[in-house]
Amino acid sequence: MGKSVVVIGAGLGGLSAAIHARLEGCDVLVLERHDRPGGKAAALTQSGYRLDPGPSIVILTRIYERLFRDAGRRMEDFLRFRRLDPFARVHFEGREPLDLPADLDACRSVLREVAPQDLAGFDRLIETLDQVAPLLDRTVFAHPMDRWWRLADPRLARFAMRFDLRASYKTLVDRMFGSDLLRAFFYGFPSYSGLTYHAKAPGALLIPYLMLREGVWWPEGGVGAIPSAFHRLACELGVEFRFGADVVGLDARDGRVRRALTSDGGAYEAEAFLVNRDPLTAGEWLGRKASLDPSFSYFTLHAGVPRLVPGLEHHTLLVPRAFEAAFEDLYVRRRFPDSPIVYVNATHLVDPSTAPPGCSNVFAVVTSPAIEDGWSWEEEAPRARQAVLRTLDAFGVGWKEDEAAFERVQSPPYFAAAHGNYRGSLYGPDARHWPWGLFPLFNRDPEIRNLAYVGGAVQPGAGMPMVTLGGRFAAGMVARTRRRSAP
Ligand SMILES: Cc1cc2nc3c(=O)[nH]c(=O)nc-3n(C[C@H](O)[C@H](O)[C@H](O)COP(=O)(O)OP(=O)(O)OC[C@H]3O[C@@H](n4cnc5c(N)ncnc54)[C@H](O)[C@@H]3O)c2cc1C
Repeated sequence: MGKSVVVIGAGLGGLSAAIHARLEGCDVLVLERHDRPGGKAAALTQSGYRLDPGPSIVILTRIYERLFRDAGRRMEDFLRFRRLDPFARVHFEGREPLDLPADLDACRSVLREVAPQDLAGFDRLIETLDQVAPLLDRTVFAHPMDRWWRLADPRLARFAMRFDLRASYKTLVDRMFGSDLLRAFFYGFPSYSGLTYHAKAPGALLIPYLMLREGVWWPEGGVGAIPSAFHRLACELGVEFRFGADVVGLDARDGRVRRALTSDGGAYEAEAFLVNRDPLTAGEWLGRKASLDPSFSYFTLHAGVPRLVPGLEHHTLLVPRAFEAAFEDLYVRRRFPDSPIVYVNATHLVDPSTAPPGCSNVFAVVTSPAIEDGWSWEEEAPRARQAVLRTLDAFGVGWKEDEAAFERVQSPPYFAAAHGNYRGSLYGPDARHWPWGLFPLFNRDPEIRNLAYVGGAVQPGAGMPMVTLGGRFAAGMVARTRRRSAP
């Protein structure tokens, strides 16, 4: 007899789905191809350094808190967070680095000094978002947007009406801010949801708002402590795990998946299947072929530098003077910029145990095109590495050839191969192919009743807090289907 639910993939989304399915009373088995839980958020060790090779900016910890509360546990018994202050450093080429304090008033004081002309726009933005941000908690973060009538929710309309709906995100930012500093800081946020700044995406303003209003946090033990805590909770609740189980097919008949098939000849029956993989690549298991354009990905360069690199904070954004060209390369020309804007995460500054004494754990991340038609990452990756190093050098935070204890690169082909991301994109297809052009792909499968998806390519979207919510959405669908088919 099979499990009532099989979850494929133990990324943060899959772990959340497994926990929620268990809380709905299902017997749950998780099949994970790697030997550890966490997917992109799992920690690694290399040459005496502890790496968080994926997500690093932790916001919305209340979403994790709720998961533990729903399971009748206290989050502090599993996971502890420390608020970062300053929460980020922005270093604009040719200027002094600017530290952004966690406190709103302190942030306003900084702004008054460096870009006084933008203070009024900043205050208006915060005031607007204070009023409308809670509306999203009760709409897109509360349930999937998978029925047309959900679009008619007056709370969504109230959110949208506070912005000029004809204006792109870039236009909204340009109207609010005149300084290069603020424009450069704000332009990047749509890409965190897979969108360009030419999209009508006022929702992307929420990310910096939430960083400021609710904080940016450091999890004790590093980002990898988040999936470890989810895994421990799932085990305590009785979820079973099978690591090294690489799913290669789904046996589907009469509109239902019957079994998940693994590369070692295993076949796992269940009443329902929750897939923590991109629906476009998981579709191949059902004989589907996708040919949509991908959204964005990341190019990362991680290094162990055997000295203390000056000039970094825990989160540092390096903005070259030619930042506008870099954004146009990314958003419009879909190519890797010659002078990329580089985000650097330096974990040794907040937790010295992540690097040997006197050494630096430097993780450089650039939002990049995914696997596009017309050029190949095989040729592009060495050029991208050089471009990242050029920006790091321009800010004095690079390293010499052969100096690093290790260098580790991740590019879109890596995300496609290791995590099953469609053409290496972290957000599934380009937003032009999203339902109503507004929300990421649906969690439920369009044809198969007992199949749902969780992860960055589906609703409510990418990022650790969002895929945690997505786990609740996907498990809720399965639970509803089970209740309907119960005798
Ligand atoms: C470089 C980088 C920086 C990021 N920065 C941030 C950030 O600062 N803050 C933030 O919140 N988010 C960030 N993100 C996004 C965040 O990491 C993801 O949205 C989130 O971790 C995705 O979780 P997931 O569960 O959807 O997928 P994944 O983590 O990809 O997990 C999918 C799991 O499924 C498994 N799997 C796939 N195929 C199979 C198969 N055939 N059989 C069995 N198992 C399978 C994989 O091995 C993996 O464990 C970043 C991502 C990257 C890559």
